[in-house]
Amino acid sequence: KVPLLQIEHLKAYYPIRKGILSRTVGHIKAVDDVSLSIYEGETLGLVGESGCGKSTIGRSIVRLEEPHEGRVLFQNEDITHRTQKELRPIRTKLQIIFQDPYSSLNPRKRIGEILAEPFLAHRLAPPNEVRGKVDLLLERVGLPRSYKDRYPHEFSGGQRQRIGIARALAFEPKLIVCDEPVSALDVSIQAQILNLLSDLQKDLNLTYLFIAHGIGAVRYVSKRIAVMYLGKIVEIGDKDELFERPKHPYTRILLHAYPPPDPTLRDSKRLTIQGDVPSPVSPPSGCRFHTRCPFAVEKCSQMEPPLTGQAHAVACHFPLHP
Ligand code: SF4
Ligand code: MG
Repeated sequence: KVPLLQIEHLKAYYPIRKGILSRTVGHIKAVDDVSLSIYEGETLGLVGESGCGKSTIGRSIVRLEEPHEGRVLFQNEDITHRTQKELRPIRTKLQIIFQDPYSSLNPRKRIGEILAEPFLAHRLAPPNEVRGKVDLLLERVGLPRSYKDRYPHEFSGGQRQRIGIARALAFEPKLIVCDEPVSALDVSIQAQILNLLSDLQKDLNLTYLFIAHGIGAVRYVSKRIAVMYLGKIVEIGDKDELFERPKHPYTRILLHAYPPPDPTLRDSKRLTIQGDVPSPVSPPSGCRFHTRCPFAVEKCSQMEPPLTGQAHAVACHFPLHP
C-alpha cells in the first residue's frame, strides 16, 4: 500500500547565533532524522512533550518550514524541493489547523469573508457560487449560516476552532495536520471538536496527522500512534497494540500519566520520569532518553538504539515487550 504522505530522514536544525557577527554557535536539533508514513483515511497520532519536535514535523509537511535535510513525499512524489509556484496545486491538499486559530483569523473581517477568501484567492469556485460554498462549510462544521456576518472576536474558543476547520476544508484537502487543536479548550468542548473531526474524516475521506502533548485526545482519535522524544521517534504502532504492550519506557510513562491508570501496570509506581527534558542543542549521547530512563544501563549512553520493527517499532536496547 502506497502511503498518502511519507517523510524520509527529515532533519530540522535551527542555528543558534551569538554576538554582533551572528556567529553560529550550535544548532537546535528540533527534528533529527525522522521517517514516517501516513496512510489514506487514517489518523496518525503524534505525541510527546512540548519542544520534542512534533509541531516542526507538522509544519514541514505543509511547508511552513523548510526541512534542513530529508524528503517529504505526497502521493509518492517528492515535494521537498519544489518552488512555491510548483507547489501550489499540492499545497491546497495539505492543510493545517492550530491550537488557537484566532491569531490567523483577520479580526477586521467577517467570518463570511474569511471563509470566502480561499475560494476567491485560489479560484476554487466561480464567484457566484462562493456564497453557497461558504454556507455549506458553516453547515459542515455545525455553525449557523447567520454567523457569516459576525467577527472572530464574537466567537468562543470552540467556535473559532470550527471556523479554522471550515477554512481548511475550503481547499478540499486530502490531509490535515491537526496541531494540538483541542489543547486550549475546555474538556466538554474538546469532545465536540474531536467528534466533528472524526465525522468529517468519514464523510470526506480525510487523513489526519494529529499532534498532541498528552495521550488523552490522541488515544481517542488515532488509529496508529507515534511517540517522539527530543527530535526522534522512539516508538510507533497500532494504537491498541501500543496501549496494551508499550515497548519503550517513555511510552509506558506517558500512558501511566494518562488517567485512568492501567490496572495491569502493577509495578508502574516505580516508573516516574526523572528530571527535565535535556537540551535539544546537545542531546544526550546514545539513547537520548538515558538521562531520565529508569532502566538505563551503561550501553544506553554509548550506543544509539535504532528504530526497529515493522508494524510496531521501537528504539530501545531493552524493549519492555520484546
Ligand atoms: Fe532506557 Fe536504555 Fe531503552 Fe534508552 S535504550 S529507553 S535508556 S532502556
Ligand atoms: Mg507545538
